[in-house]
Amino acid sequence: MPKNVFVWLARWSPFGRRWDDTPQLHRAKQRIYRVCLLMSLLMLVITALLPQSDPRVSEIQLFINAFGFLVALIALLCLRWTRWLRVIELLMATGIFAYTILWDSLFLMLDVLPSREFVITYGPVFLLGAVILSLMVPQRALLPLLAVPFSVHAVLTWLLLSRSEWTDLHSARLVTDLTTLITLIPLMLVGEYQRAVVLAEQAAQSIHKLAETDPLTGILNRRGLMAQLEQEVAVMTLLDIDHFKSINDTYGHEQGDAVLQGVGEYLASLTSAHASGHQHLQVGRWGGEEFLLLLRQPPAEGVVVWAEDLRAGLQRLCPNGLPITVSVGVAARWPEEPVAQTLKRVDGLMYQAKFGGRNRVAVAPEDSE
Ligand code: GH3
Ligand code: MG
Ligand code: MG
Repeated sequence: MPKNVFVWLARWSPFGRRWDDTPQLHRAKQRIYRVCLLMSLLMLVITALLPQSDPRVSEIQLFINAFGFLVALIALLCLRWTRWLRVIELLMATGIFAYTILWDSLFLMLDVLPSREFVITYGPVFLLGAVILSLMVPQRALLPLLAVPFSVHAVLTWLLLSRSEWTDLHSARLVTDLTTLITLIPLMLVGEYQRAVVLAEQAAQSIHKLAETDPLTGILNRRGLMAQLEQEVAVMTLLDIDHFKSINDTYGHEQGDAVLQGVGEYLASLTSAHASGHQHLQVGRWGGEEFLLLLRQPPAEGVVVWAEDLRAGLQRLCPNGLPITVSVGVAARWPEEPVAQTLKRVDGLMYQAKFGGRNRVAVAPEDSE
């Protein structure tokens, strides 16, 4: 199918959506590539200035390094001004390969050999780059990934150069190609590893958030509330919408859903510090038309006034244009009392409010002072 081919090409092109990076990954890669490119510029300047025994080598070196410098500079500028990191990745990869091929073919054609010092500089410079990269990349697991190939490269260069057989062009080419590969592979791996790590972290975060969020109201669900209950709780409030079934029966399930959403939105607004000053409030949907509110600190106005304000606020709300009332149970957590016990008490109090005639607050006598 020609259309599919175009779609495939568009997706996998450097501008395709397949390559869209998340903002975190984009920033992480930007940092890494900036260091890589700056290191390359530094290395290109150092190696261009090194004295060569053969003047032709100096000329070649200057020419090739000027080419490399230009490519690295363009990539660095692109890094600053464009969001298409894949273009920079392509530029870096082709730049390194073109540099190697140019290097090899020119030396081969002219039958000359660069000085030992020139090749030796690669080792420490790459190693320095590896150390800087390792420090910058947050994942500890990346350290061996970076350090091992870079160190292998450095040791290889030093070993091969210290041997007396190191005279023929063939070995020179071998080392150059090897070093290029050894340098390029970890760089690519770092990018891909970083991408995988960031994506996995984001997936884990969104799964965690999804698992603890009520899809209808967007506030915490029962699981989210249970997790909150593991922390310190001073006051628990359970509210249940009165005669909610009749809203469903009269206006339909969708209208019922809209009422629940309105209540969830109102409760969520209470948690924002500006709305009521209850900065230590967590709210969630306990189930059906029941909502649980957790206060980390006792309200300054006392639990009775706090719960009464809540009940009155919901009576005024008219979510989705429908008037509602709620029955509220509120209990302070006694010292050393298990959370399950407080939950049980607050549930009983809510039912007490129901049996007492609904649209009211029930508080344990010892909590009401
Ligand atoms: P009470 O005053 O005793 O609490 O009466 P009620 O009608 O509110 O309580 P009941 O337990 O009889 O009915 C609760 C209803 O809530 C029944 C159920 O269909 C409805 N409900 C539960 N979850 C949802 C939901 O997500 N959306 C809608 N629209 N209705 C729901
Ligand atoms: Mg109800
Ligand atoms: Mg109920």
